[in-house]
Amino acid sequence: TPSSVGPFTVVLLGDNGVGKSALASIFAGASDSMGSECELYGGEVFEQTITVDGERATVTLLDMWDSQDEDSWTQERCLKTGDAFIIVYAITDRSSFLRASDLRIKLRREREADRTPIILVGNKCDLVRCREVSISEGRASAAVFDCKFIETSAAMQHNVWPLFEGIIRQLRLRRDSL
Ligand code: GDP
Ligand code: MG
Repeated sequence: TPSSVGPFTVVLLGDNGVGKSALASIFAGASDSMGSECELYGGEVFEQTITVDGERATVTLLDMWDSQDEDSWTQERCLKTGDAFIIVYAITDRSSFLRASDLRIKLRREREADRTPIILVGNKCDLVRCREVSISEGRASAAVFDCKFIETSAAMQHNVWPLFEGIIRQLRLRRDSL
């Protein structure tokens, strides 16, 4: 029988407007699986079982981060409950990129000496002419903060599944090293 691991809780973080919900809805709309979703605390929770490298994994994706809502209970919960984090910025918005660094620092503070998988995501890479953050800046920031990096376009559905597959691979690596 094919084994299934998880559920892993994966939390979307990042400024309002960077495309978190657009990424989540692609995740939620994955065909050939029976995903479920529900609303919770003004955000949304999506569950999917997907096969990566021949192994099934169940992921609960939380899209409830509100960057305007500093120090709220929900923010605290988000930072504490994730098994992995997706920190999103928009390549068209430098301030969202700077905020992504702040979030990385916040996470590290919250979860000291923790090897929680984190992916830094530069979304909206289809908007080439409005680009404010280069790929190399994104990559360099991820290197400084010791996390993975990928550029995506939720609008073009570019690199969105590689993003979710990448986080599942990282979660497995971490599990296998425990
Ligand atoms: P959230 O606040 O982080 O959840 O951001 P949303 O998912 O609500 O997206 C904010 C706006 O950006 C919406 O108008 C989306 O249609 C748009 N958007 C999201 N992702 C992309 C993308 O990859 N490319 C483009 N061009 N627009 C996007
Ligand atoms: Mg949203």
